[in-house]
Amino acid sequence: VTRADRLAELIAERDLDALLVSDLANIRYLSGFTGTNALCLVGGERRLFLTDFRYVTQAAAQVDGFERAEGRQDLLREAAAPMAGRVGFDDAHLSVRQHRRLSELAPDGVELVPAAGLVEQLRAVKEPAELDAIRASAALTDDILAYVVDRGLVGHSEREVAIDLEREMRVRGGDPSFPTIVASGPHGALPHAEPRDVDIVANVLVTVDLGAIVDGYCSDCTRTFATGPLPAEAAEVYQLVHETQGRALGEVRAGASGKEVDAAARKLIADAGHGDHFGHGLGHGVGLEIHEGPRLSPLSEDTLAAGNVVTVEPGVYVPRQHGVRIEDLVIVADGECEVVSGFSKTLIVVE
Ligand code: ZN
Ligand code: ZN
Repeated sequence: VTRADRLAELIAERDLDALLVSDLANIRYLSGFTGTNALCLVGGERRLFLTDFRYVTQAAAQVDGFERAEGRQDLLREAAAPMAGRVGFDDAHLSVRQHRRLSELAPDGVELVPAAGLVEQLRAVKEPAELDAIRASAALTDDILAYVVDRGLVGHSEREVAIDLEREMRVRGGDPSFPTIVASGPHGALPHAEPRDVDIVANVLVTVDLGAIVDGYCSDCTRTFATGPLPAEAAEVYQLVHETQGRALGEVRAGASGKEVDAAARKLIADAGHGDHFGHGLGHGVGLEIHEGPRLSPLSEDTLAAGNVVTVEPGVYVPRQHGVRIEDLVIVADGECEVVSGFSKTLIVVE
């Protein structure tokens, strides 16, 4: 049974005749294609893969289990031609313009139905080979964090450090899965801080958040370092986040809801008086994309299942003072979860 076969079952359960798959990560997941322009039409026995002239040769080498055809420009004309009945489309990704064009091109009698999330539902539960790629990606991220300790932080700008870490990652066989965050002192109070041309000084906290892509699969890991002895408040915040992160990991298991795992961590932080300083969700799924399902957050409606891969990343951000985030990548299992981030979480001083 292929991934497309399992998708076809979900399509049938939704009373759809076919699904137009337009998101490139979803297309890669289903077909193996890694180029930047393609569409798939899946349903019943149909497995149609469309790309343009530039990718015909690449698709012949990569795409398995699909009838391949060449289309022009946005490929919508060729995708619409064989449509019949109720056809789902990805309302989370298709643009309003593409949707209008698809409506014009679809044969009479075709009903276009919003149906985002079906491929994502399959992608959330990883297969063994996908888990191996994620483990390798996480191991590379660990290596880069060890490299941070060796290379030092004080006297280098945040930007210089971020560029160096990304370069080192590429040398060691991965690509960054998102722009590396290096945020020192008060700047660390911004959860998505951009590295600045500002030198890192002694006796502050430095948050380093980075991830790799190996064999198409992402990793995501954050550690917060100290550049020397810290003021008491900064050290306390570190201890709080460290303890919260460890306890939140203990809540991650198949069957737990994303909302309750998040709530457990949130309560510990609120009880310590930092309830207003943890404004983002506890974690997110990771796979072909750096942010995917399931989510661990106050708004999550997801329930964790064995084979999910999620981050657990509580943070405390005290405006104008400092911030701490500690993030591990975790494979959800029926029993104890497998933490694939291996780098130490004890506060390390890097000068
Ligand atoms: Zn991260
Ligand atoms: Zn993350």
